[in-house]
Formats: sequence, C-alpha cells, structure tokens
Amino acid sequence: MTTDAAASAADGARPAATGSADERDARWLARAIELAVENVAQGGGPFGAVIVKDGVLVAEGQNRVTPNLDPTAHAEVMAIRAACQAIGDFSLAGYTLYTSCEPCPLCMAASLWARLDRVVYAADRHDAAVGGFDDRAFYDLFAAPRETWHLPIEGVRPANAAAPFEAWNAHGARTDY
Ligand SMILES: [Zn+2]
Repeated sequence: MTTDAAASAADGARPAATGSADERDARWLARAIELAVENVAQGGGPFGAVIVKDGVLVAEGQNRVTPNLDPTAHAEVMAIRAACQAIGDFSLAGYTLYTSCEPCPLCMAASLWARLDRVVYAADRHDAAVGGFDDRAFYDLFAAPRETWHLPIEGVRPANAAAPFEAWNAHGARTDY
C-alpha cells in the first residue's frame, strides 16, 4: 500500500490495476483501515469500509453510531447504503466489501441482504473485543440457545400473522429482493 494508492482511492479514482489480487485486496483494506483510523478523531467508532467493483471505488463508509445517534450506523452498513444510492439499486451483486474489521452479525446479515459477491476484512472479532466492542459477544450469543439470552425474544402469533405475506404473494407487481 502506497500513499499514492490511498490518495487515488480517496479521490474515487481507479487505482492502478497492477499487482496480484492479493495486492489489490491489500490496497482496498488499507483504505478501509485509513477511514477507520481517521474516524476516531472525527468522533466515530474505529471502523471503516469501502465497496468496490472491477477495481473501482463505489462508496466508502465510516462508523457513525455515536455522532448520528444510530446504533445501526456501522461502517459496512453506511458503505452499503451509500453504494446502493450511488448505483441506484438495492442489490450489490458483483461488488466486494472491504472492511477494517470482521463484520459483526448485523453487518454480516446486511452483506447477505445486499447480495455482495465477496467480503474481505482486516482485524477480527477478537481485536474488536480488545477495543471494548461486542462483536465477539454477539457471535457467541447467536451460537447460544435463544432462551438463554438476556434479551427476551418472544414470538406471539395472532390469527393474521401471515397476512403480510399473503398480501405480498398476491401482489403481482411486487419487486422481489
Ligand atoms: Zn457491524
């Protein structure tokens, strides 16, 4: 990763399409890490992400949970939202997400919903735990029986529970996603 490569990525320009796939990955990860480090000074959490297709930067994201008062404003979610707005689509099929840290369960699910082709991360849930973040704790929670959670998750089923899906399936002009 060179300063020039970071600068060109920051400008939204196509980085040099040289080097191996690993080297190209390293450049985008370096940009994600750069965004994460910069974000700390800007009052956000230490997470950054970029979305790329065919060597072209489509969108960047930084964690804005505390400044935006939005617990879902994770870097990956911010990047996904920005990328979808940029391309005018709700699907990111064909795109790659590079993120400074292993996506938490929220961002992993967001990546699946966005139909991304690939997710590449730098630090992992254990690094995040050192920073006091709950990524690893939430992964552990998901692996535990729901009855043991501190958060009660209660399924109640009124007679019309399936009505939204009946309406959806009967709606011929729906947009599947
Ligand atoms: Zn997340």
